[in-house]
Amino acid sequence: MNKASMEKIVSLCRRRGFIFPSSEIYGGLSSCWDYGPLGVELKNNVKKAWWQAVVQQRDDIVGLDTSIFMHPRVWEASGHLKGFSDPMADCMKCKMRWRTDDLDGDVCPSCDGELTEPRQFNLMFKTFMGPVEDEASVVYLRPETAQGIFVNFQNVVTTTRKKLPFGIAQIGKSFRNEITTGNFIFRSREFEQMEIEYFVKPGTDKEWFDYWLKERMNWYIGLGIKEENLKLRPHGDAELAHYARCCSDINYNFPMGLAELEGVANRGDFDLVQHAKFSGKSLTYLDEDSKEHIVPYIIEPSAGVDRSVLAFLCDAYDEEKDKDEIRVVLHLHPALAPYKATILPLSRKEHLAKVAKELYAEVRQCWMTGYDDTQSIGRRYRRQDEIGTPYCITVDFQSLDDKQVTIRERDSMKQIRIPISELNSTLAAKLGGEPFEVLPPGGSHGFGF
Ligand code: ATP
Repeated sequence: MNKASMEKIVSLCRRRGFIFPSSEIYGGLSSCWDYGPLGVELKNNVKKAWWQAVVQQRDDIVGLDTSIFMHPRVWEASGHLKGFSDPMADCMKCKMRWRTDDLDGDVCPSCDGELTEPRQFNLMFKTFMGPVEDEASVVYLRPETAQGIFVNFQNVVTTTRKKLPFGIAQIGKSFRNEITTGNFIFRSREFEQMEIEYFVKPGTDKEWFDYWLKERMNWYIGLGIKEENLKLRPHGDAELAHYARCCSDINYNFPMGLAELEGVANRGDFDLVQHAKFSGKSLTYLDEDSKEHIVPYIIEPSAGVDRSVLAFLCDAYDEEKDKDEIRVVLHLHPALAPYKATILPLSRKEHLAKVAKELYAEVRQCWMTGYDDTQSIGRRYRRQDEIGTPYCITVDFQSLDDKQVTIRERDSMKQIRIPISELNSTLAAKLGGEPFEVLPPGGSHGFGF
């Protein structure tokens, strides 16, 4: 088995329409990426799998979708205005800016120029809200989604009447003016996060911390990540963030080495206490057992959507020897694969194409389905392997008589022949999931009485 190199992943993503450099026709914008037709499917599937697992299939977590701009006081309360910065030094000769953590000596690594004294550099993007660009109208693009959850704590408690322990989950864009970006979508300045804030009774926080570490590891493994490629890295006391009582990274063995995929932190009561102090509002919870108002502790599993996409791609990538050729295949979990099936007519001849297109129209009502009628069938199978399509459905001349099609499985390359009438049920059984929920067709009149 070959391990994916970053070059191979980047090239496959570019070539097949998973991920493009942003504003490419203008030469690209550093560290910004656009998800293409296949990438947006994969990314949406990752988010859908997460949302299902942490919100829809549990009864103790609810969702939120909060705005990217927040009241500027939020960032004072959270500590981001003061603490969310890296010490930086500028080269006086070539003007490059360096993280002092990344410097070996006291000269510029690029041109040996003299460096300025290190200074703090805030990672939040700053802009102005409204027509006047003055200090009073400064707002920030959120650097994490978590704060939108904390400031809505009381709204959620009163509207849902959830009892401790319970959680709030959110998926959304975050922005950080990172100094060093790179490794493709691993570190960019605009990215997406999937965060849970899980509120627990103080004293039970350690066991919930352990619970969430296990739960989150199992989520990746359940979607196909090889266990040996995941590694927990507990933070030492010295590197703990200002809000954290303890923290552990879930690291993934990316092509450039082990690096953070998700962080799980025990934030104690830091966030609710801070926001209560800065807003003047009570952010407590009435404990029905003790009849006391308490400030819950928070366990936070915080994952990156883009880093998850990268990990799923790297883990799924394989080069296999098939006869005299190398077969590139993405062994993506069916829940994540952009296309669940692709219809391949053996030839473009009209009477065959008609049947294949009818079948395509039917199957795509249930599953995200592709259609490919160019080049030899062997090349087309290879193309589908490379984008991770679990099943290819071939319509041949015999299909016209016996009303049967061939299903070829991506991983084993085994083929079986089944009646067309059983195609949807066979796919449902093989894909181990449900077809799309039944929705009225686009442009319908909706449900009436
Ligand atoms: P790192 O140490 O890699 O900068 P972090 O510890 O600052 O990450 P957190 O603040 O814990 O990251 O954010 C939670 C998750 O959000 C990370 O585990 C990662 O998946 C994702 N994330 C954070 N920063 C970026 C970024 N610049 N680009 C892409 N994803 C990111």
